[in-house]
Amino acid sequence: MIKRFYELQEKILAYYPEANLELLKKAYTIAADAHQSQLRASKEPYMVHPLSVASILADLRLDEISIAAGLLHDVIEDSPYSREDIEKRFGKEIADIVWGVTKISKISTMDVEDAQAETLKKMIVAMTGDIRVILIKLADRLHNIRTLGPFREEKRKKIARETLEIYAPIAYRLGMGKIKDELEDQSFMHLYPDDFQRIKAEVNDRYDWAIVQLEALKTEVGKILSEYRIQADTEYRIKRPISIYRKLQRQNIGLDRVYDLLAMRVITDTVANCYAIMGAIHQRWPHIPARWRDFITTPKSNQYRSIHTTIITPEGVKFEIQIRTFEMHQVSEEGIAAHWKYKEGVGFLDHDTRLEWFRDMIEHHRSNPDPKEFLTSVKKDLTPNEIYVFTPKGKVVNLKGGATPIDFAYAIHSEVGDHCKSAVVNEKMVPLRTVLNSGDVIEIVTAKNCRPSSDWLKYVTTIRAKRRIAAYLQKTENVRLAERGKRLMARVVREYHKKHKLTLGEGEMERRISSLHYPDADSFFRDLGTGKRPIDRPFLQALFPEIQAPQLPRIPRPTRRLDPLHRAIVVEGIQDLEFSLAKCCAPIKGEPIVGCITASRGLVIHRKGCPSIASVMASRLKDASWSDAGDVAFQVRYELIVIDRPGALTAITAVTAASDSNIKQIEQEQINQNTARVVLTFEVRDQAQLREIEAHFRSTTGVQQINRRRLAPR
Ligand code: MN
Repeated sequence: MIKRFYELQEKILAYYPEANLELLKKAYTIAADAHQSQLRASKEPYMVHPLSVASILADLRLDEISIAAGLLHDVIEDSPYSREDIEKRFGKEIADIVWGVTKISKISTMDVEDAQAETLKKMIVAMTGDIRVILIKLADRLHNIRTLGPFREEKRKKIARETLEIYAPIAYRLGMGKIKDELEDQSFMHLYPDDFQRIKAEVNDRYDWAIVQLEALKTEVGKILSEYRIQADTEYRIKRPISIYRKLQRQNIGLDRVYDLLAMRVITDTVANCYAIMGAIHQRWPHIPARWRDFITTPKSNQYRSIHTTIITPEGVKFEIQIRTFEMHQVSEEGIAAHWKYKEGVGFLDHDTRLEWFRDMIEHHRSNPDPKEFLTSVKKDLTPNEIYVFTPKGKVVNLKGGATPIDFAYAIHSEVGDHCKSAVVNEKMVPLRTVLNSGDVIEIVTAKNCRPSSDWLKYVTTIRAKRRIAAYLQKTENVRLAERGKRLMARVVREYHKKHKLTLGEGEMERRISSLHYPDADSFFRDLGTGKRPIDRPFLQALFPEIQAPQLPRIPRPTRRLDPLHRAIVVEGIQDLEFSLAKCCAPIKGEPIVGCITASRGLVIHRKGCPSIASVMASRLKDASWSDAGDVAFQVRYELIVIDRPGALTAITAVTAASDSNIKQIEQEQINQNTARVVLTFEVRDQAQLREIEAHFRSTTGVQQINRRRLAPR
């Protein structure tokens, strides 16, 4: 571990003799000043941390800007230095990177899942900016997880879980195998200490045996290499505990049946040598065809390349052998950082295909801002669970586990996806929702008149397919609305022609429409179709100025209200509208909401995702959000299953009282001898207060279950 600046300096000079030492020294000095009186949880001086982060970045042989920013990465967050101070001393580039890292660390919520969603979103957004922000963030997390020891168990587990679920997968997506492995190993140890110890003990029992086997294989492979006169390095390893754990969990097998418990890597200089070595090894030992993978011809989506093959010796010992070039090896260890050396001098890697996934994610998030849904779908997509399937011509397509022919069709081309009719998998006709397996050969039958349907969204797993289907559905909805607008407009034109003998040429009509400041005719018709642009007197007067517009019957407009509740919600930019809160989902301030126009009750505000609006036409749904105004009490209704004992009810009411909430109604009903159901309606100001109350309910002795209920019984 690096504890002094000169050690870092030597590490950098070793790969980058011309590095700007003045800059690095200055960054070190400012960081040391900023953190001078601070200690790590381990009681070491705080500077150990930025130095270690910088040293991890130096291991990746990054440029001096990254390393300086690495030294400074906690300065804005933890000391009086501001972003401006950093910019004044180090310029905009470094200040922007440090600020980017700081922004990711600032999380506004206590809820674990929300915090994860927020971190993930920030990481992904940062990815479109300067990728060095992410490299520093990964190095930061790596050092933090290496030094979790002094924290109490709960905190260690929380950080380990976040690392395993977010940081390691991001490192994987960026192809940074070495950092990913260590993030995973460290997290596993803290998160599942018992499983970790058990597996380690099991591996230890076989350790001597394993080393003997691996040494024997190394000798044999060495003989093959000299026989074929191929220069190559060999190295071996025993599978990592977390990988063994995952395999045992997934396949429910014992350690003996793990094929790649023992693995060897052969690293050579050319691709031709890789194939020659593979051929020679396959000649020497039988291999398992199902476990042979050629990632050289078909790289993984993170650009990992290598040949994998599993052989069995006459004694029945199985080895996984990976064969690759030195360059492929470097890419597999360092990923995006391997292409990102000190000499390149740019932080934006627009052309790097590894970032495509992140771009897809950002797009997906734009069209689907619900943070929880985003977290679930991104987590699903982040898991390195890939399958390899084939086109009839033998082209390999890389998909996610759980993918269906629809995913496959969209991976081929969006046109194929948009028109796919049916699928033939391994020469058998199958439904489009069939889950594909590695090795499947898939043929998609398309038809001109076939179109995506909203059902498809249920069957796809890749974000790409999801996004394209959603875009298609949105487009058709827009077309439908525009047609409706055209019909309305045609009716108006006919009426003016009949009543006033007014005839306008097409060109003239277009000119008048464009004078209404629409970018194109379609968006004009769409607004007519949705009713956003009402056909009222001012509209007719503007469009046909030569004729006195008729007095139209008044269409009841939403009236403005002045009570605080009605100031608290903004619907399509308008505050103080008349509306009611839906009784089904009973939204409270802070929860994502949407307005729904109903025939009987006017505008009703629902929670986003409320099942009762699932089938409502998009044109009837209005954007809605909470404003800062209005201190309002919202009613919520909860059902609590409690152990029936004296004082149970008091304990519950004490929770709401402690949180300053009024109980409106409370009912208790015996379920059986020991348990009772308590249904209570109470008031809260906002989501934050509700979460606090929920958390207190959960920790109240005797409370076994809590459920939020409809506000009014059905
Ligand atoms: Mn840090």
